[in-house]
Amino acid sequence: MRQSVTACVAVGANLGDARQTVLQSLNDIGRIAGCTVMATSRLYRTAPWQAQGPDFVNAVVRIETNLTAPELLQALQAMELAAGRERPYLNAPRTLDLDILLYGDSRIDSPALTVPHPRMMARAFVLYPLADVLPDFVQREDLLRVQDQAVDRLD
Ligand code: AMP
Repeated sequence: MRQSVTACVAVGANLGDARQTVLQSLNDIGRIAGCTVMATSRLYRTAPWQAQGPDFVNAVVRIETNLTAPELLQALQAMELAAGRERPYLNAPRTLDLDILLYGDSRIDSPALTVPHPRMMARAFVLYPLADVLPDFVQREDLLRVQDQAVDRLD
């Protein structure tokens, strides 16, 4: 039996009913074999970051998983595909974007996977929801550093 690891996954959507897509995805992540959802963040609305199209809805989920990081990535990419994500060009609007932010204390630097996610500390839309589910990880200074990025909390 593999040991279980705490991982955090960022969920974002900005096409169609983005709020519904994010809510559905939070639910679906809990249905991946080997994953248990421990906490889900509130939902946030943010303007696209180096991307096109309507505002994003973002959230972060904290899970316990006995999948390896590549197995988790594969399961998340299958969900992205099922949500009909197309990639016509870099940073194109996306139906669903799932990123592994943290996988235990692991540092991974492979062609397919970089963990901790390299840009997470620069993005308010990641740090705010991450603070909801892993408050000890996100420091006040981290949030201050991204305070110029507009993030609306959705109720
Ligand atoms: P994006 O278009 O931003 O979703 O990037 C997807 C690509 O990033 C995929 O080819 C992944 O293999 C790669 N990738 C690298 N690190 C990560 C990560 N921590 N989480 C998700 N995808 C990652």
